[in-house]
Amino acid sequence: MFTIKEYVKPNTINEAYEILISKKNNTVIGGSAFLKMGSKKIGTAIDLSNLNLNYIKDKEGYIEIGAYTTLRDLETNQLLKENFKGVIPNSVKNIVGVQFRNIANIGASVFSKYGFSDIITALLALDTEVELAKTGRIKLDEFLNSSYEKDILTKIFIKKNQRVAVYKDLRNSVSDYPILNVSVSRLEDNFKICVGARPNRAKIAFKASRELSNSKEVTDLDYYANIASDELNFGTNDRASKDYRKAISKILIKRAIKELL
Ligand SMILES: Cc1cc2nc3c(=O)[nH]c(=O)nc-3n(C[C@H](O)[C@H](O)[C@H](O)COP(=O)(O)OP(=O)(O)OC[C@H]3O[C@@H](n4cnc5c(N)ncnc54)[C@H](O)[C@@H]3O)c2cc1C
Repeated sequence: MFTIKEYVKPNTINEAYEILISKKNNTVIGGSAFLKMGSKKIGTAIDLSNLNLNYIKDKEGYIEIGAYTTLRDLETNQLLKENFKGVIPNSVKNIVGVQFRNIANIGASVFSKYGFSDIITALLALDTEVELAKTGRIKLDEFLNSSYEKDILTKIFIKKNQRVAVYKDLRNSVSDYPILNVSVSRLEDNFKICVGARPNRAKIAFKASRELSNSKEVTDLDYYANIASDELNFGTNDRASKDYRKAISKILIKRAIKELL
């Protein structure tokens, strides 16, 4: 069980950030679902609930999501159901259960860069940017590849274009962590293939995405699935072996491309 010495609810992002960096064990808290599994000794717990970050808004050219929005809100939101072929609601609906998704939030889920994350794989296939208190606004891909630095994720921006995406995952049992997940998106001739829970964090299969995007006619789906599974690394943990993950990735990628076509 984690412990908290002091608990604050700042009124501005700057204030929250200053408190965060003022001491090593000061910590931002999201829904605390993950934090409470550990034994962290938190100095000052920083609750962002006074900052109005629980929203999903249709903005000029973007869908903007505040960091304190719950996974359940993402799952049930009409705007997200109507855009990108509903890939975001589809990607979160298998995470644990409704009560859990009512607590866990998107800021914590993306900032933590969990390898098993369902939502990161889906967001990566879209044109997504994140905003952080210190770093500012950057592409999700850039954020995922950056080294860890204390910061606060405040907003997520998804470009509102005609991109459509399909999400696929495989779990050993319902509500368990995924042993592999895949999201493939398409904007006209431009495809993006992303694979997560390898068990490492989601990555874009750049070579396979390029080949697929440049193909005049897409017939042999095995061809693209093989390129993707060869260019990405897979690993073994207690849920699945490296070889099993690699084999499954080909199947999920093929199914996702087929559904998009
Ligand atoms: C039992 C269990 C099973 C899970 N299964 C899955 C699964 O199958 N698929 C999946 O995708 N996810 C899964 N998750 C992860 C879950 O979806 C959330 O991503 C996770 O719980 C973090 O969200 P939270 O609100 O609980 O964050 P918290 O526990 O509150 O925080 C987690 C971390 O994020 C930091 N943090 C919180 N908010 C911010 C912010 N705005 N900016 C910067 N740092 C911040 C905290 O300091 C902490 O280090 C699981 C989690 C648990 C506990």
